[in-house]
Amino acid sequence: MTDILELVATSQINEYEAGVIFNNVVDEFHSGKIKSIPEELNLTNYEWTAVCQGILWQQLALWRTVGWPVSCSICGRKINYLDYGWLIDLNGLHHVDCSRRI
Ligand SMILES: [Zn+2]
Repeated sequence: MTDILELVATSQINEYEAGVIFNNVVDEFHSGKIKSIPEELNLTNYEWTAVCQGILWQQLALWRTVGWPVSCSICGRKINYLDYGWLIDLNGLHHVDCSRRI
């Protein structure tokens, strides 16, 4: 198991190196060496969802450290990542419904 976000948060690896580790783990998954990518990288289901939406490793490592955004980047209303129903964007998180208004 590799705690990829911990490695990024503590500057032991950079964004590119995190991507290399991720790609290697994906390859291991597809070749049957491991059963779960998020487990192998020590990611929660919420973090894994963000990764699947293309969040930068450094952004996600920061959120693990300081907390996830609590307001929608589009409408500004409250958003709780534990409820899902969000999408990642360059400014943080927004409600799925709000993305239809862009
Ligand atoms: Zn919104």
